[in-house]
Amino acid sequence: MSYIVSTRHVSKEYKGKEVVSDVSMNIERGQIYGLLGPNGAGKTTLMKMLLNLVKPTSGEIEMFGEKLMPGSVELFKRIGSIIEYPIFYEKMTAVENLELHCEYMGFYNKHAIQEALERVNLTSVDGKAVGEFSLGMKQRLGMARAIMTKPELLILDEPINGLDPVGIKEFRNLLRILSKEYRMTLLVSSHLLGEIEQVADTIGILQGGKFIREMSMQDMRSEQTEYIEIVTPH
Ligand code: ATP
Repeated sequence: MSYIVSTRHVSKEYKGKEVVSDVSMNIERGQIYGLLGPNGAGKTTLMKMLLNLVKPTSGEIEMFGEKLMPGSVELFKRIGSIIEYPIFYEKMTAVENLELHCEYMGFYNKHAIQEALERVNLTSVDGKAVGEFSLGMKQRLGMARAIMTKPELLILDEPINGLDPVGIKEFRNLLRILSKEYRMTLLVSSHLLGEIEQVADTIGILQGGKFIREMSMQDMRSEQTEYIEIVTPH
């Protein structure tokens, strides 16, 4: 089986403290993979390692079947991501920000910019500076930027933060579209099972840096598992 993402015994230490411990995880092409875990579980650190932003202390990572190396720049043209809070030029409009990103990526396509803005319902705010956007609008613009080049893999760190209930519903629909129509593989983190269970095919659970379980959503639903209790704050 060839995987889009494959980690083998990946760990990360900060000042002698292991924040990601011995994680072996595989994501198949076309999957929506939910990475679930409470605050501080190590989700962001794991995602940063997949994006080559942070170097593992030990273990190996393969992306698209290629071993991730410090100079693996080309691989990242195939990946879109939102890690932590998306940052924009606040005095520029949404379109100007996306145009700038296109330039940086060496890709310019006016149609792709419009299509991405339509997908996230941000066409009506054109002309407004991004500094005037709400948190939810910035999250949606971050999503437009991440999907604009139609990457094969999209890595989204807690993308639902800042969205209202309507926004969350729209976001889930967007994930389905990206998966079904654009055939993207998606890795989406969350600290709440309820946010991603409706769309995820597989769930991996991180707790205290350890990967405690990986299972299909179907199995999780039928199992009424105790792990749901562990990760769902009440
Ligand atoms: P959250 O949902 O709160 O963002 P998370 O699951 O994404 O949590 P991480 O952000 O990966 O978790 O953090 C895991 C642990 O690693 C935390 O205890 C955090 O304080 C620590 N950590 C993360 N980055 C660093 C760093 N650069 N230096 C030191 N410790 C760090």
